[in-house]
Amino acid sequence: MTTQRTVLVTGGNRGIGRAIAEAFLADGHRVAVTSRSGEGGPAGALTVAADVTNAESIDKAFAEVEAAYGPVEVLVANAGITKDTLLLRMTEQDFEDVIDTNLTGAFRVIKRATKGLLRNKWGRVVLISSVVGLYGSPGQINYAASKSGLVGIARSLTRELGSRNITANVVAPGFIETEMTAVLPEATQEQYKSSIPAGRFGQVEEIAKAVTWLASDDAAYISGAVIPVDGGLGMGH
Ligand code: NDP
Repeated sequence: MTTQRTVLVTGGNRGIGRAIAEAFLADGHRVAVTSRSGEGGPAGALTVAADVTNAESIDKAFAEVEAAYGPVEVLVANAGITKDTLLLRMTEQDFEDVIDTNLTGAFRVIKRATKGLLRNKWGRVVLISSVVGLYGSPGQINYAASKSGLVGIARSLTRELGSRNITANVVAPGFIETEMTAVLPEATQEQYKSSIPAGRFGQVEEIAKAVTWLASDDAAYISGAVIPVDGGLGMGH
């Protein structure tokens, strides 16, 4: 039987994060999600407010989750944004905003979770990166930098905490049908599809399956890995 864990998914009110939260709920775990409004998580999950650009708000969210469900045992750092534009038009602010949310945001939540994971002598950290982090993408220098940075975090975390029953892995989704990709022009979507060996965009549930597996006891010996879930787009990571 699977051990019931306390799971926290950042940005679990919509898109990929929501599907991840739903998959953990379906497996019987205690699930909390963050959203910026503090509302909108799936039924059965505790929704708490957190902005990952603000350490104080993260601390408050963790305290609420701990009070309700005990220490976080599985952390999924999923919250992310894009601010796409070609390099010559990209402002320093565009770059910093994306790094602050996607990369420093992950650092903040992982740092807050780590004391509890160490005390617990068991833990799972899953970072939601992107095929773009290692493949690159025009107009996404800020986003690609933030997403490849997550690999460095997972691998360093593995070296720091690997002997304590704590694993840290990266899931690198390809193009997944969510609000983030719905804004792409039709022609761009078709162009992307033609370069994906699977010939289609992925579904949020396909990401969620990889994440729940990495968090399970079956994946205890997998750490510092980058698991692509991208229909073959980024082969060679
Ligand atoms: P969505 O845009 O649908 O959702 C983004 C989530 O992140 C929301 O829950 C949002 O919360 C949260 N979020 C954004 N900024 C902050 C912040 N400052 N503090 C706290 N939460 C924040 O994105 P997806 O579901 O598509 O993407 C989820 C993750 O997967 C992201 O990291 C993304 O980069 C990655 N990804 C997505 C791909 C795709 O094709 N969709 C492909 C590869 C990777 P709120 O609702 O409160 O704004």
